[in-house]
Amino acid sequence: MASTITAGFANDMNDKQDRPYVCSAPGCSQRFQSEEHLLIHRHKHEMTLKFSSIKTDAAFTDQTPTPTRFLQNCEEVGLFKEIEEEFLQEQERKRTKRYIFLKNRRTELRRSRKKLLFTLSSHLK
Ligand SMILES: [Zn+2]
Repeated sequence: MASTITAGFANDMNDKQDRPYVCSAPGCSQRFQSEEHLLIHRHKHEMTLKFSSIKTDAAFTDQTPTPTRFLQNCEEVGLFKEIEEEFLQEQERKRTKRYIFLKNRRTELRRSRKKLLFTLSSHLK
């Protein structure tokens, strides 16, 4: 249990550095790596608001909006979150693939250049 809390804290620290875009919606403080991600996420809140205004449940409309209730409301429309996460994961995966490819390619080029320089210098001696 204690290790879970520590891991959560460490993740939070990383989030602050890696994800400068913070959602400003009430009761939500999710962070994102890019403005694009934040905008997609913000869209979810808009959908949630639309969804809750359509809802005519008496028990629901009696409630004053509090951060906790707002989050519960977000949970209810978890479908949007799933779609959003899938989309972000797909983007992230593509980006990571491309990054690894370029990194490997650069290392390869550097290595072959070193080899070439070494061969040249040994011939010059
Ligand atoms: Zn949010």
